[in-house]
Amino acid sequence: MPAILRRSSDFTPAGVSSRDAFFNHIDKLLERGYVPGVGVLMVRLYNMSNYSLREGIQAGDEMVSLFIKTLVEGVARGNMVARESGVAFVVLIDRDDIEALMVKLRSTLRKADATASLSVHAGFCSLRDGVDARGLVDRARYALEREDAGTEAAVCYFDENMCLAFDKRRYVIDNLDDAIRRGEIEAYAQPIVRVITGRICEVEVLARWRSERFGMIMPSEFVPQLEQSRQVHKLDSTVFGLACKQWREAKDMGVEVPFGINLSRLDFELCDIYQVICDAMAVYGVPVEDVHIEVTESALIGSEDYLRNGIKRFRDAGFTVYMDDFGTGYSSLEGLRDSNYDVVKLDKSLIDQVETNERSRVITADAVSMVKRLGMQTLCEGVETLEQLRFLRMVGCEKAQGYLTGKPMDHDGVMEWLAQEAERYTESGLNRYLNKVGQVNLIDGTRADVQGVEAAVFLGSTPVAIAEIMDDHIFCLAANAAFDDLLHRIGYNSFEEVVGKISAERGEMRKRFVLAAELSKKTKSKRGVDFISGGIFGTVEIEHIASTVERSAFLIRATAISSCEAIERERSLELASPFLYSLYKRIDLFDLAQGTSQNLYLSTPLLRSHRMAGITLAEVREFCDRNLHPADRSRFLSFYDLSTLDARVKERGTNYDVIKLRVRVSHDTYADHVFTLIPMMVQGRGQVLSTLRVAEADTENSHQISGDARISDAVLLKAVLEGTDRYVFWKDDKRRFLGANQAFLDYYGFKSLSEILGKTDEEVGWHVDSLPFREDELRVLNGDVVLRSRGTCYDRNELRKIEANKRPIEVAGEIVGLLGYFRDMGPAEDE
Ligand code: C2E
Ligand code: CA
Ligand code: CA
Repeated sequence: MPAILRRSSDFTPAGVSSRDAFFNHIDKLLERGYVPGVGVLMVRLYNMSNYSLREGIQAGDEMVSLFIKTLVEGVARGNMVARESGVAFVVLIDRDDIEALMVKLRSTLRKADATASLSVHAGFCSLRDGVDARGLVDRARYALEREDAGTEAAVCYFDENMCLAFDKRRYVIDNLDDAIRRGEIEAYAQPIVRVITGRICEVEVLARWRSERFGMIMPSEFVPQLEQSRQVHKLDSTVFGLACKQWREAKDMGVEVPFGINLSRLDFELCDIYQVICDAMAVYGVPVEDVHIEVTESALIGSEDYLRNGIKRFRDAGFTVYMDDFGTGYSSLEGLRDSNYDVVKLDKSLIDQVETNERSRVITADAVSMVKRLGMQTLCEGVETLEQLRFLRMVGCEKAQGYLTGKPMDHDGVMEWLAQEAERYTESGLNRYLNKVGQVNLIDGTRADVQGVEAAVFLGSTPVAIAEIMDDHIFCLAANAAFDDLLHRIGYNSFEEVVGKISAERGEMRKRFVLAAELSKKTKSKRGVDFISGGIFGTVEIEHIASTVERSAFLIRATAISSCEAIERERSLELASPFLYSLYKRIDLFDLAQGTSQNLYLSTPLLRSHRMAGITLAEVREFCDRNLHPADRSRFLSFYDLSTLDARVKERGTNYDVIKLRVRVSHDTYADHVFTLIPMMVQGRGQVLSTLRVAEADTENSHQISGDARISDAVLLKAVLEGTDRYVFWKDDKRRFLGANQAFLDYYGFKSLSEILGKTDEEVGWHVDSLPFREDELRVLNGDVVLRSRGTCYDRNELRKIEANKRPIEVAGEIVGLLGYFRDMGPAEDE
């Protein structure tokens, strides 16, 4: 007989009875009366399959035979041994003899098993009235499967405490259908909040069983049982139906709350769960966007393709799929790699210790980062404290669920809550926008360690924040540790404080920021704004993430170009009004005592060509000869005579001295530039910070330009077309394009004018409702002026609102064409 066949449980070695014989024997004992203390012991050999794999099947078989021999010899005469399954055996035995038997079994194993990997455990249930042989075996198995059976105890006795749990388990298995019929199964819902808004974005539906006999039964007491008895699909179908019903009730009250349900892997085997779900949704009119399914990763391990396909079917139909309990199974990473999910739920155990355990913080932060880099969202479960929530916000975890933000509520609780508070707390309509915002990885660039302090030596790590602009207000939605630290270093406690300050004190900087943000949105590109504050020179990169009609979110990446650690803080805070957003061409630091200087920042190629490493005081003259307009050179040199600087500063009554001079910008042209010198103390030594930037046209003393003969109308027109933030175009009297400014071409993504030259709107083919525009233009060609005409258009792939103005172009009293310009008013729909 081949070895493999002999391993089947049908094979009955000498001294081992069949199961039926065992059952009959015990049932007879129960009828005839039995000695108290006698009972059924279930004995199981653990780790046998690994042993056979390593040592070979024959060695495995020999080990099992030896085990059986010991077992049979070890039980007293008149008792009985039967094979329950594989390497599990049932023994009729007196309770007092168990210990001796176990000692024998263990010493046999210890002698025969060189690998010391095998172990033996047992569960025992004594004979009792009202429980038949099968019931006894079930109880012995139940005892064996208790957790403490796995420890050194080796034998677990079925006692009165276990009795209740066992009865419940049986009850659950036998009464599901009745419970469903009687309405004992309920759908509780637990809120899930979006971390950056603190508002509820969805709920998770959790099953509860309110039974007559046991009161409230929790999922941990019935889900595994229903899985084992292969009826969990009935539960899940019921719960899903209840969830849909609840969704409809809420919807009728005016609140749409997306919900998620838990599916068992068996649901895919035991029924057509996809169809069940779709049918229920159809009954209550639930859209697919409002439903997500949660599947635990362990459900998928080693599973056949039908399960993955089943999940794929949901995803293809537009459901979002959550991976539940990430971080509990060793195979979680494998699941991520295959990535059949939209959202990964980090298990409670991951964040339980983030407040006290540094490693826990690193693990959680990296898990969030990794999941996001794989293109999925993160949701953290079991959030119980404010500290944990703050931490999640800092590492960029998008969603949180836990007792802190809400316990699971029953139907009435949910409805009451929705009726009273939903308005304030749910974020209807914003989901898509915020989902996009949530995709930003706040960890990237911060090098794993996020808790600040050391990591925030931020040169090298990236301070990242998300800002939202709404109704002309700027808000901070999220910021990582490096960003917060940067703020601290330049003298602020929070992003809000910065915004408050730049709004109140320097409308100019605020404008720059908002303008850069708008440009980034319009041009779909990153925009930079430089800043100098607290002795740190850097640039802030602004990138549009997403918009709704009234709000837009931007990713802010701050990059420190140079940090002058040593600049004393108090002093540096006065040095310039903080956050002096400005486009500096270069920044240098002069050391007065040593007569040297250090170049901190250099932006323009022209200046760079002359020296990279920084200049000494003597080199100021060389810079002057090279770059200053001849007429301004002597003023430049006296400005850079640092020995008189203190006196000048005192006289001005400011912290700095400033001058405007003409600097060469190309071979033969000069432009106004502003030089600033700021005296400061660095490590007790006098130093001077020198900055250079292009002068803005509207500042005082600006040179008159209108009288300059070089500025012809054509030059001026070119400058205006380049400088305006309107999108400008002009057409002939047949509505064919004659020209457009660069902004216009960029807006629509045309590579050059030739793509539209000589074509009408219809021929270009992008206006969605070109009809009103067409009518406008015909009116203009008849002499009308059209102002603020609203319409929509496609800006590459996005539908947007624009507001256009058009007026006729006349030559010698004749209309020869039209001039149009428009503004972008934001997306046409809620994104
Ligand atoms: P889960 O999907 O991981 O659900 C989260 C569990 O954590 C819930 O327990 C919830 O009440 C609990 N929880 C939420 N926040 C906190 C917190 O801050 N602290 C603590 N200590 N616990 C928190 P619950 O409702 O007992 O569900 C247990 C498990 O049963 C669920 O784990 C899920 O796997 C399963 N389950 C629940 N309902 C269903 C269902 O309808 N069908 C299926 N197949 N499984 C279900
Ligand atoms: Ca779940
Ligand atoms: Ca979970």
